Amino acid sequence: MGNVKSVPFFNYPHVFTNDEKGMLSVISNVGSRGAFIMQKDLDDFESNLEAFTGSKYVVGVANATDGLQMGLMAGGIAHGDEIIFCSHTMVATASAIHFAGAIPVPVEAGPDHLINVDAIEPAITPRTKAIIPTQLNGRTAKMDTLQAIADKHGLEIYEDAAQALGSKYKEKCAGTFGVASCISFYPAKVLGCLGDGGAVLTNDENVYKKLLLLRDHGRDENGDVVLWGFNSRLDNLQAAILDYQLKQYNKVIERRRDIARMYQNRLDHLNQITLPESPGSDPDHFDIFQNYEIEAKNRDYLKSFLSENGVGTLIQWGGKPVHLFRNLGFTQNLPFTEGLFEKLLMLPMNMSLSDDDIHYVCDCIIKFYNMRH
Ligand SMILES: *Cc1c(COP(=O)(O)O)cnc(C)c1O
Repeated sequence: MGNVKSVPFFNYPHVFTNDEKGMLSVISNVGSRGAFIMQKDLDDFESNLEAFTGSKYVVGVANATDGLQMGLMAGGIAHGDEIIFCSHTMVATASAIHFAGAIPVPVEAGPDHLINVDAIEPAITPRTKAIIPTQLNGRTAKMDTLQAIADKHGLEIYEDAAQALGSKYKEKCAGTFGVASCISFYPAKVLGCLGDGGAVLTNDENVYKKLLLLRDHGRDENGDVVLWGFNSRLDNLQAAILDYQLKQYNKVIERRRDIARMYQNRLDHLNQITLPESPGSDPDHFDIFQNYEIEAKNRDYLKSFLSENGVGTLIQWGGKPVHLFRNLGFTQNLPFTEGLFEKLLMLPMNMSLSDDDIHYVCDCIIKFYNMRH
């Protein structure tokens, strides 16, 4: 493999340059109509996302973090309620709970890196109101098991589906299981816009109506203010760009699943690393591979070796599960998750990768483990 290639972890300009002409025509169309805030393009995108996900209602919002917070508030989460979530998530899951007035209670991840369902019951107290699975890396948790636990204890489910648009469990889309859920359109997400963006999904009409108020200063159609709200609208321009990209979204998912299959074919024989489940290996799960997160022996050396060879990798959340952000007041010890974070590494997984790039990444990893055990 002689010469060093450059395979960045994520190529931000590619989000735009991949289809610059198409993007510019959307921008020009929206701009010339002066359609910047809550116009037809937002309505269209919301309807198309309802059809795509099977969610009864979709509300475009400024970002997924706001979306989750407003979803919790619209669903009736109140001051002092405890909410159980998996510590292997973005701090945003916990901050949304915090700013909704509730108490975030982190629990262990399992071997699939998603919430460990066996860790939930021991964390339940009389104040527990809800469970928030994070549909991490584009995979949906075993929602029937989660629902059974929730039913048994009279709890609600909300989903952090920021990474999981189009991911399914038993044919049902992430984001459609709970009271409300959030999706993120951050540029590096599978459906990414040219800035910040998010959506809330719900099947409950009352939650939906409240979300419409919460995202726009608490104002109703007549401009009357009926509750304390936020300014957290999805820009109409971003909505237009997202609606344009949604048309190609199934192809994007297929390409990402192909990349996952290529990694699987080239790397599965290495016993120093553990790969995510390959596409189709479990018919209950349809994964969209927001990330390709492996567990690697000698992770830090592998990361440096790949970097020296021009391959960008990333450790999710800056290398820490949420409960280890001790400045936020967490005191839990979660040994399995902490051990996992010694090994986690994300390989490049994005639409700018060529097949040659993926082979090069695999060549480098194989070379590393041939040199060192
Ligand atoms: C990206 C992400 C968020 C936050 O999304 P924003 O749109 O940036 O607010 C929340 N949770 C998870 C799991 C994420 O990956």
